[in-house]
Amino acid sequence: MIIGGGIVGVSTAWFLARQGVDVILCEKGHIAGEQSGRNWGWVRQQGRDAREMPMIMESLRIWRTLAEDIGEDVGFMQTGCLYAARTDDELDNYGAWLPTAKEHGLDTRVVSGDEVADLVPGATAKWKGGIYTASDGQAEPHKAAPAIARAASRSGASILTSCAVRGVETQAGRVSAVVTEFGTIKTSVVLCAAGAWTSMFCRSLDIPLPQLTVRGTVVRTMPGEQVLSTCVWDHDVGIRRRQDGGYNVAHSSFLEHAIVPSTFRFARRYLRAFRQEFGGVRLSIGREFVDEWRMPRRWRLDAQSPFEKTRVLDPRPRPRAIAGIQKMIDERFPRLAGIGIAEAWAGEVETTPDVVPVIDEAENLPGFFIATGLSGHGFGIGPGAGKAIAGMLTGTGTDLSEFRLSRFFDGMPLRLNEKAG
Ligand SMILES: Cc1cc2nc3c(=O)[nH]c(=O)nc-3n(C[C@H](O)[C@H](O)[C@H](O)COP(=O)(O)OP(=O)(O)OC[C@H]3O[C@@H](n4cnc5c(N)ncnc54)[C@H](O)[C@@H]3O)c2cc1C
Repeated sequence: MIIGGGIVGVSTAWFLARQGVDVILCEKGHIAGEQSGRNWGWVRQQGRDAREMPMIMESLRIWRTLAEDIGEDVGFMQTGCLYAARTDDELDNYGAWLPTAKEHGLDTRVVSGDEVADLVPGATAKWKGGIYTASDGQAEPHKAAPAIARAASRSGASILTSCAVRGVETQAGRVSAVVTEFGTIKTSVVLCAAGAWTSMFCRSLDIPLPQLTVRGTVVRTMPGEQVLSTCVWDHDVGIRRRQDGGYNVAHSSFLEHAIVPSTFRFARRYLRAFRQEFGGVRLSIGREFVDEWRMPRRWRLDAQSPFEKTRVLDPRPRPRAIAGIQKMIDERFPRLAGIGIAEAWAGEVETTPDVVPVIDEAENLPGFFIATGLSGHGFGIGPGAGKAIAGMLTGTGTDLSEFRLSRFFDGMPLRLNEKAG
């Protein structure tokens, strides 16, 4: 039984169903309604924490044949990934990741300013150089998770949408069932892949899980001239050309965190992450604080739960961020100047204190497994994570102890993700 129809939940369902395991997945809204359908669409190995490397490299292998394996397009293209540096300091900073690439046999290399200009011929910016991984790629978020969900369904999984899971029942200290808004499903194994909702769900079961969110605004342009041949990230911009010829563009360091009671509960654990990974995070306080404040810690399982009240987490994109992105496109990519914005949206990126996922069984509740905290880079690794999680659930998987939940409580210093990008 899987809670959550994002890329993690549906990929796990697909791998389990292919092994003949009975799977039911419940999604409170629609497949990929939250992070998995709102992200930039980058599928990158570059810049990952060393702990994620085996899983992301396996994920790339899965992406390369995914369309063929499921018989549907997911928009995957191996277009590479470039981190472009404006200064020597930035270049040194990116270069510090190269030993990780080398250790894992990845094709990441330093590129000169001229090579960056070849990769991004339509830009006005003069970059000193960068690092580039040609084997990285991109896919279309609005296509990928729904297509994988349909494939899981064809392989025998039951995919239930508009079906919130309210809670879990136990017997003799183990999971015995989940309670959905439409009734109870007997099961001894539950995977909670509930994205931004995981911490709240776990708290209702007395499982502490530090998780906060930051909000990012993204725009999709109308189709335009080709001004780059790879996914490009620098201090100000994250941009890639979509399969339809338009561009997904975001400000790479414009993120917001709406202060909520959980901010204070977890603040101490997040200080380093916010400083290093989300240096440009703007803090605000508003309705979200009151909403979380009013949220009960536990709720009745025979009445409407918080998950039904918010079917899809759909934060409003910031007009200021959209205007900034439009200005950046005009100035940085003159051949795209004045290009129409077809759509703008926002997404809540959920993250753990070390910006690395949690994939584990809860110590105090046997049968309750957690897969969350993919922290702003979970789309690319999603299929690889799904395969590894399916292995964990069937007892045939690889060692996932690096992703254990207890790392936040065992008194050891946190190893912060080297570069989330
Ligand atoms: C703006 C933005 C840009 C990003 N860019 C990238 C990128 O370029 N590359 C990359 O690799 N990653 C990126 N990410 C991160 C990536 O999107 C996420 O890490 C990934 O999608 C997480 O997948 P998930 O399945 O864990 O969670 P989600 O996609 O959030 O899915 C969780 C699902 O669980 C459901 N759910 C929750 N509670 C319940 C319940 N009680 N009952 C039933 N259903 C429930 C929710 O409705 C939701 O659909 C980005 C994220 C954002 C927001």
